[in-house]
Order: sequence, then structure tokens, then C-alpha cells
Amino acid sequence: MYKIKGKYMNKNILEHNFLMEKRTESTRLYCLRNIAEMHFEVARNCNIECLYCYSSQESSSRNLLMSLKTACKYIDIIFENSKSKNIEIVFHGGEPLLQTTNWFYNVIEYAIRSASLCHKNLRFVMQSNCILLNEEKLNLIKKYHIIVGTSLDGPPKINNLTRKKGEIVLKNIKKLNKINCFGGVICVVNAFNYDKMKEIMSFFENKGIFKTKIVIGHSVGKSKRLPNLSYDMIFTAYKSIYEYVSKKSLGRNIIEAHIAQKLSRFLTPPSSEDFKDILICAHPFCGGGITTIFSDTEGCLYPCGSSVCNLKTTLGNINSITDKTYLSRIVNFHRKEDKYFKICAKCIAARICNFGCPAFDSIDKETYKAECIANQLFYRYLNNQNTSEIKEIITNLRAKVYERK
Ligand code: SF4
Ligand code: SF4
Repeated sequence: MYKIKGKYMNKNILEHNFLMEKRTESTRLYCLRNIAEMHFEVARNCNIECLYCYSSQESSSRNLLMSLKTACKYIDIIFENSKSKNIEIVFHGGEPLLQTTNWFYNVIEYAIRSASLCHKNLRFVMQSNCILLNEEKLNLIKKYHIIVGTSLDGPPKINNLTRKKGEIVLKNIKKLNKINCFGGVICVVNAFNYDKMKEIMSFFENKGIFKTKIVIGHSVGKSKRLPNLSYDMIFTAYKSIYEYVSKKSLGRNIIEAHIAQKLSRFLTPPSSEDFKDILICAHPFCGGGITTIFSDTEGCLYPCGSSVCNLKTTLGNINSITDKTYLSRIVNFHRKEDKYFKICAKCIAARICNFGCPAFDSIDKETYKAECIANQLFYRYLNNQNTSEIKEIITNLRAKVYERK
């Protein structure tokens, strides 16, 4: 039976079961059947202004915080229609810690109750800048074992050029590590840090941050004010990370997911079976809108958090979604240009390529071209390295992943 958590619980939410109400309607949505990861835009706004934020904030007429009712309806619609046994609930933003603790307790308890009715397993994740982490939120995170990932673009002196308050983020990472709820760091490669990757990886390793993933900054939203990354900047970042992780005395503890994956695919091209387990962004046709979905504060659905910067990618609203609209928009969203069929199909570097990001590439027409050249350069570079060294790095990384499971 359910235990009501005293002061935090909203009695109406616990007593009202949207899920049961919806089931009687027997309206199954085929388009949601593979969703295994549901992202919530818990708060539309953010407490810091990163220079490269993909949000333009122009459309801030929308609700700034997601209501309890919207969150519960979103849970209903996914739980009712997804065939996935395991569902990951990702609290995203803006900045999710701007939301009240009360809201989180109610939504989480509602999700747990609904999951037990639908025989689903849940995992809770949060992507936060970690600046607003207080005791109350820390208790919440510990109680539900929410795995918190954060962004950090290097040591504070580098991080603070594009983001803010790196010192506080580091302190809070320590607190999350103590309760075993730290998920790792996303490091955005940008014009201020692309040539400092060795320093950054070494810093992370020294601070006990062993799990990291670089993402290539795109010129979308606020980032349009920054210079675009060129192919040699991206290649420099790739090469420096490789050089760092290949040094025996260094780099033996850190897992940088982006390069690790390229190395693994360089040695063994992935089979379609392998694609099931890889990062949703690294599939030639990524998981946006297929295995993952994002709801904004008003219940408008998008393929993933990144696609919110393009309002044209909305797939419908939780109150009015139809298979027809959703599926036709998702087909458009993942449509590849001719180059994919004519050039990529014959490209030897395809085995380590991510084939761009449909959310960003339709807005920023330059970065994916730069990524393409950088990818080819990196492939040639790897061809000139010692294969047994690459094998050794991968074996070590696999052991590390296993150790940390
Ligand atoms: S649209 Fe881009 S960010 Fe979103 S899942 Fe696909 S590749 Fe990843
Ligand atoms: S490196 Fe460029 S040409 Fe080659 S597969 Fe990737 S995007 Fe296509």
C-alpha cells in the first residue's frame, strides 16, 4: 500500500487516478509504443544564462513551471501506450531545481503508483546545473535515488567563461557523489575550450569525475552570438581526448562517452543489435520521438529536449495527440538529405559517425558540415594509430563501465 509522505503530498493527486480514467477510453496510440525515456520540462526558465544556451527564451509566453496536472497526464499517456517495461523519467529544464520540492514528491509518487499498476520499472534521472541544490532537494534525490547529471565545461576558470558558478557546481557534485546519485558531466565543446580538452579531462579525473560526455556546441538559440566551431576545432578536441585517454599514466579512470564510442565503433562496426544499447543521439536515425520524448511545461510534445529550440518540431499536445500527426511529423523530423544516401553510404568514416542531429542541423547549417570533416579527419588519424593501443583503451573502458555498474 501507498504511504503518503506527510506535508509534501497533494491529496487530490493521490486520490485522483488519471490513468484509470484514461484506460476506459481505450484509445491506444501506436506512435508511443517504443518510448522508454520521458523527459519533463519541469521549469521553462533557468537561473543562469549560459552563452550557448539552445533556448532563445523568445517564446517565454509559455508557462514557466509544469503543473502537477500536466505532469500526471503526461505520465498517463506514456505509461498507457508504451510497451516498454522499463521507463526512465528525466527531469529537465530550463533548470528543474527551480520547481518546488512538493511538486517532485507528488509527481514521483504518482509515477511509482502508476508504474505498479502497469507493471513497469522506473528509473529517475535529473539534468540540472546543480547550482540551486539545497538540503531539501538533496533529501529528495537520495530518497528516490534520482541520478543527477550536470554540465561543466572544465575547471571554474574555463567553465565560467560560458557558464557560471563552477565552484558551487563542484561542491554539489561532491555531495551527490556522497549519496551515490551523481550521474556524470556533460562538457560542451565550444570556442573557449575546444583546445583545452587535455586540461579539462585531467581536471575531471583529479576531482573524481570519472563519467563524462562531450557534446559539440551548435549555433542555435543564444549560441548564435558565438562563433561557429570549425572542423579543425572539433578535430582538435577529438584528438586531444584520444591522446589523454591513451596515456597509460593518465586517463585510465575517465570514461568520455563520445570518443569511447567512436573508438569502439572504429574497431568493430556496430551491428543493429548493438545500436539498441548506444546513446540515443549516436544512432544514424536517433531515438528522438521514437524511444525518447520530451514534454514542455504545457504538455506540448517534442522528439527530445534539444528539438524544443525549433517550435516546428512539436508532435502534438498530451490532450490532443493523434497517431497521424505524430507519425507524419516524426518522419519529417528524421528525413535525411540526399547526401546521406549518396555520400555517407559510401563513406569509410561512417562507422564512427553520428550523422548529425535533426534538431540542430535544420537551424544551424554549418556545424554538421564541420563535424562531418572532423569525423573523417579523426577516422584517418585513428587509422594511423596502433590498433592494439586502441584495443587496450577500449578493454580498459569496458572494465571501468563494468566496475561502476
Ligand atoms: S534530435 Fe539531436 S539531440 Fe535529440 S535525440 Fe536526436 S541527435 Fe540527440
Ligand atoms: S563523415 Fe560525413 S560523409 Fe562520412 S558518413 Fe559522416 S556525415 Fe557522411
